[in-house]
Amino acid sequence: MKHDLLRFTIVFIVSLFIGIMVDMTSLCVIIGLCLFIFSQFCELSNLYQWLQHRQDIAGTTQAGLIDDIGREIEKSRNRHRAREAKLINYLKRFQEATSALPDAVVVLGTNGEIEWANKNAKTYLGVKWPQDSAVRITNLLRTPVLNRYLNAGPAENNKGLQLLAPTNNQMILEVRVTDYGDTQQLMVARDVTSIVRANQMRKDFIANASHELRTPLTVISGYLESFADDDLCPVEWLTYIRQMRTQTCRMQNLIEDLLQLSSLEASNSQQRKEIVRVPDMLNSILSEAKSLGGEIQHQLTLEAEPDLYIFGNHYQLYSAFSNLVFNAVQYTPAKGRIKLSWFRDDQGAHMLVEDNGLGIATEHIARLTERFYRIDKGRSREKGGTGLGLAIVKHVLANHGGQLIIESSIGEGSRFQCDLPRTVIASAQVGIGKFVSA
Ligand code: ADP
Repeated sequence: MKHDLLRFTIVFIVSLFIGIMVDMTSLCVIIGLCLFIFSQFCELSNLYQWLQHRQDIAGTTQAGLIDDIGREIEKSRNRHRAREAKLINYLKRFQEATSALPDAVVVLGTNGEIEWANKNAKTYLGVKWPQDSAVRITNLLRTPVLNRYLNAGPAENNKGLQLLAPTNNQMILEVRVTDYGDTQQLMVARDVTSIVRANQMRKDFIANASHELRTPLTVISGYLESFADDDLCPVEWLTYIRQMRTQTCRMQNLIEDLLQLSSLEASNSQQRKEIVRVPDMLNSILSEAKSLGGEIQHQLTLEAEPDLYIFGNHYQLYSAFSNLVFNAVQYTPAKGRIKLSWFRDDQGAHMLVEDNGLGIATEHIARLTERFYRIDKGRSREKGGTGLGLAIVKHVLANHGGQLIIESSIGEGSRFQCDLPRTVIASAQVGIGKFVSA
């Protein structure tokens, strides 16, 4: 700045001096100022040239304001270059790391167009980078189930989707899409063939073993029954035979539950569906529960919306609801209260079993639906439990798009709530009158 002022002052004084000498002051001052403006214009033009051709600023302009501006621009340009180099380096490292991943990784833009893909994207999904750059993923992978999944939104996308690889029908992939950045999405596909196969083998093994054990057990149980009824059987044997019958009965229950779980896993959503009259079903479960309680008197009540029916599998729902009610009977001491409710709200239909029995400690609640998880193994066995009841309930509800919510505290009782979505409700209207049975 001071250089400019100095230059201006010199030009002014020199032109003023010459003007006084030749007696044309105003003209000389105007000419001097025009020369000064012209030199500034030349400086600006140099700066513009420099900006255009990106050469070094040094020697391009004279010291002064314009030169200072140029140097500031150069500094910020250098900073920008350093940042750019750093980002390129990061990007390179990110690409190297994602390329080394055993999974397929595809970066998708706002409209699902491919912005980048690693090497495995070609092997698993058939996405070639850079050839498929900017192609919409849905145009490239024409698998309806995948397209539905990609359009389903973040809630569904977080769950992941299993499907056959578009490039190899022997490979099973698990695809997951996550939002990142402002509008981008990261699609990751993992080869889960061996996990799925191992899982299937485990399921098949349990189903086959249970099936194979069922017939011999039926034969043993039949013989034991006839021994017990046979007058020729020595009296001292009767105690052993009774014990053997109890144990075979337990094994039969266990096998039936295992078979049921296997068929629930296999059927998934391809189960037979019909209109299920849940209020009638709960009424018959209530009568069974009363006889199961036997001499231990419970106060069993049912409150159900009479016209609230659902579209589902009768056998599975009966098994789930009865498991919850029979558990309540078994884990509630004499004279305890057990209340069954069946109602609907904005979310869907709900079946509630509440008791004021033993209750469950908080640390067990999250694990109750695991197979064979029992809080007190001895007590469960004594009551004829298999430890599979709540696993069955969870599977049945999942097959109907629902879920099980358990709330309980020791000494205060338990609350098992089966939530079924609105989509399975079959009744035409909301039940207005409630029917109460005790
Ligand atoms: P089980 O055949 O042992 O009853 P379940 O899967 O049906 O197996 O239940 C798992 C465990 O949950 C049971 O062993 C029991 O400890 C606990 N449980 C289930 N229902 C109730 C209830 N209503 N009150 C207290 N504990 C319960």
